[in-house]
Amino acid sequence: MESLHLVSRERQPQDTIVQVGEVKIGGGNTALIAGPCSVEDKGQIMTIAQAIKDSAQILRGGAYKPRTSPYSFQGLGEEGLRYLQEAGRATGLPVVTEIMSETEVDLVADYVDMLQIGARNMQNYALLKKVGAQGKPVLLKRGAAATIEELLLSAEYILAAGNSQVVLCERGIRTFSHTYTRNTLDISAVPILQHLTHLPVIVDPSHGSGDWNLIEPLSLAALAAGADGLMIEVHSAPEFALSDGPQSLKPEKYRALARRLKRLAAFLKEDQP
Ligand code: PEP
Ligand code: MN
Repeated sequence: MESLHLVSRERQPQDTIVQVGEVKIGGGNTALIAGPCSVEDKGQIMTIAQAIKDSAQILRGGAYKPRTSPYSFQGLGEEGLRYLQEAGRATGLPVVTEIMSETEVDLVADYVDMLQIGARNMQNYALLKKVGAQGKPVLLKRGAAATIEELLLSAEYILAAGNSQVVLCERGIRTFSHTYTRNTLDISAVPILQHLTHLPVIVDPSHGSGDWNLIEPLSLAALAAGADGLMIEVHSAPEFALSDGPQSLKPEKYRALARRLKRLAAFLKEDQP
């Protein structure tokens, strides 16, 4: 990474702290983002939000869904944004959702506290410029076949357009064999990114594995590797989820995991070399 780049650790040695509502990410602040892959209806997001509100700091839920097949559920659009906002307000949790097009940025930014750019759009430069020119913090996910350099240069677009509140997210990459996992979670990306940039780095073990059984060990590994937070998919009835059920934890499993993660984060903090 060029030392003159805005994302570079050489240019800014101290950690950037990204603030989402009242929640801080980075600089020693660990944040858990949880919620369903998609907002499916008003009751679904409200129930999940209530179930996780004491064990997550930020609520997630997709309203505009980038689905591999055009015949899969595409999200509720603005209706979903409304339900997400209501669930956030009812629980006191700030909310994050994905935007897929630069034409949606202003509309979506009115409803949520943080804008997510998904793996498929990591190199949508028009979108990067547009989110850089507005004031809400951005969660930028690594593309499934993107190098670390490419992820950082995509973040650079956002900073260069004027927005330095960017969180990077490792969510698994394409490798040669996906018999047992949807993607290969690149844990090494965490310390490498943190060496190269001052931006916070979080990990998404849900998309990183595709399998709810793997979320706990990968979450523990991510925090132990130094991640500033996690994004985990949670659904009350994963078997009926309209998207990503197989990689979603039930709320009670999520809450138990969050307790372990809190203890691990505290241990890591006091064990600083
Ligand atoms: C998501 O977070 O729901 C999502 C679609 O993730 P990704 O862009 O990493 O595939
Ligand atoms: Mn998903």
